[in-house]
Amino acid sequence: MRIDNKKEPFEDWSYEQLKKLKPVKLEIDKNAFDGPFTCCRRKTVRARVKTRLGKGFVIENEVWKCPKCGEQYVDRKQGNELDKAIIMSGFLDGRNIEFARKLNYDGHSFFLRFPAELTKKWHKGMKAVIKAADTKRFYVEIEG
Ligand SMILES: [Zn+2]
Repeated sequence: MRIDNKKEPFEDWSYEQLKKLKPVKLEIDKNAFDGPFTCCRRKTVRARVKTRLGKGFVIENEVWKCPKCGEQYVDRKQGNELDKAIIMSGFLDGRNIEFARKLNYDGHSFFLRFPAELTKKWHKGMKAVIKAADTKRFYVEIEG
């Protein structure tokens, strides 16, 4: 995946726009090679850059950068990190419904209860897919 270096990637994009973009633009080609890439006949080098995700939310992420022209490239792993950050930015933007729940512990594992207002249409046998940004931040998708 190639990110235009002229503008900051995703600058001033709303969460709605980012959400639409995610499945298309951040889908990393499974056959894509991991970095370093070649640009200007040189090997790109690892660099930390700041990426703005929507209003006032900036993350620091790793890219491959051309030492000559400064063009930035994102490989599969870096793309996945960016993907997680975009998911999390929706939460941190405060545009999602937020609820606090005490974590329950049954002696083996932790679990939590969802507010009944949100689960009216849920039924037995549904599955939760959890995407972890790290050990304290998660995105949960209910399927089925
Ligand atoms: Zn270059």
